[in-house]
Amino acid sequence: MKETVLVTGGAGYIGSHTAVELINAGFDVVIADNLSNSDLQAVEGVRRITGREIPFEQVDCCDREAFKRLFERYEFRSAIHFAASKAVGESVEQPLKYYRNNLTSFLNLVELMRDFHRPNILFSSSCTVYGEPDKQPVTEQTPRKPATSPYGNTKQMCEDILRDSIAAIPEMRGIALRYFNPIGAHPSALIGELPRGVPQNLLPYVTQTAAGIRECLSIFGDDYPTPDGTCIRDYIDVVDLARAHVAALHRMLEKRGTERYEVFNVGTGRGVSVLELVKGFEKANNLKINYRIAPRRAGDIVAIWADPSLANRELGWHAERTLEETLHAAWEWQCHLDRREK
Ligand code: UDP
Repeated sequence: MKETVLVTGGAGYIGSHTAVELINAGFDVVIADNLSNSDLQAVEGVRRITGREIPFEQVDCCDREAFKRLFERYEFRSAIHFAASKAVGESVEQPLKYYRNNLTSFLNLVELMRDFHRPNILFSSSCTVYGEPDKQPVTEQTPRKPATSPYGNTKQMCEDILRDSIAAIPEMRGIALRYFNPIGAHPSALIGELPRGVPQNLLPYVTQTAAGIRECLSIFGDDYPTPDGTCIRDYIDVVDLARAHVAALHRMLEKRGTERYEVFNVGTGRGVSVLELVKGFEKANNLKINYRIAPRRAGDIVAIWADPSLANRELGWHAERTLEETLHAAWEWQCHLDRREK
């Protein structure tokens, strides 16, 4: 019998790409999503890419009774938890929404996994837990810094909830994957990122500027202490990131980790500046982006990139797609969206 995996938030950006890679790797998938910040079209995209009828349940993980019914209905042993609110700025304005949503849904998940004896939990964490690191690149041993937003704080708190729960429940295993900056889209252009309103993240703003939806990209600061003055990030292709989940899941199912709770960085190991990303996008797609230098954005970290060697070694996972391929896929997806809207 096939192994089934619950994917909460599976209609979202990273969740939908992960669902595809899970199916490609031979798993069955159940997608649960409340569609609060996602679209059923993503589930349709996953179905089209894989040619499979994937069960979808519109469930809010904060609704414990409804969530419990899903556990009664499906025989999964593992869950990947993506369902969460993710806008840093919004979390500063509406902290209670973030604490309520991100913590309640995760507490419900961990409790139900315990109660139903479902042993494996994979949690979507973020490099935001490192704050502004003193040394680059960051390893899993780099100390976490106090969170600078309620969003970041929920990531830290959920990591701790998972660590402490796993310690207390001998049958359980957990992995937190600390994502760097996920970008790009599936090469089929059938799934990708769906920003609502004005994009807050760099690459969706770039693709929308290229498409003429936005007039001009603002580059937030060019006077940072970096080679070209703009901030540095580790941009990880969303398909590579999705595959890291499959590798981590195999590790838990095979009980390969010496510890029952583990943390892995998921990045490329390469720092790329904002200007490099914009120039790379222009080159990969043979077009020009209208941009201007704007004041720094409050709260931005100057530079952060991953040391992914632990994931490389222990998960047998590597980022494979080139930045050019990724930037090309992002543009293909934007073009697909524009056609869909017309
Ligand atoms: N950025 C920018 N213009 C934008 C959006 C982002 O210059 O319209 C910069 C931002 O200041 C940061 C980098 O792009 O240095 C990545 O920002 P993003 O919000 O995508 O990710 P995060 O800040 O969470 O790493």
